Amino acid sequence: MSVKAGVQTYDGTGVMTIMIGLDIPGRGALNLEVAVFDYNGTLAVDGQMLGPVAEGIRRLVEEYGLEVHILTSDTFGTVNQQCRELPVTIQVLRSKEHTAEKAAYLERFGERQVVAVGNGSNDEDMLKRAALGVVIIGGEGCSSRALTAADVAVNRVEDALGLLLNPKRLVATLRR
Ligand SMILES: [Mg+2]
Repeated sequence: MSVKAGVQTYDGTGVMTIMIGLDIPGRGALNLEVAVFDYNGTLAVDGQMLGPVAEGIRRLVEEYGLEVHILTSDTFGTVNQQCRELPVTIQVLRSKEHTAEKAAYLERFGERQVVAVGNGSNDEDMLKRAALGVVIIGGEGCSSRALTAADVAVNRVEDALGLLLNPKRLVATLRR
């Protein structure tokens, strides 16, 4: 088993920080470079960002080199204001088919592996398509569709951030 996280490497043009790299017995390698989060029910309740989120996301970006995206229906219209100081890309959904739009968003990352984190029914296809899907039950509960689409279910957003910041926990849960 090997776990690399936020390792500094030299790629010929400069020092770069690599992603969260895991080798999971019975499953294979995971090299996570991008994180895509749902907003309400995942990072926020009633449109308000939860306490542990800002620091956890900052650490994922600064220490682990993850590229972080927030993909949301923005039901409460708060995401841009709430996340304005975070080093993230925010995408508010525009179509009428949010489940398909969320899954299609992952195509832009090509071969780069994505961890998707969500709780709702419209996260189902995004969680399936991602290299790693994490569902948060949280205070709002999660959809049973999202639950069965995910690789890992956790209770709270801090648990999801904790898995990514302490990748050996993921290996322990996912190994066969
Ligand atoms: Mg949600």
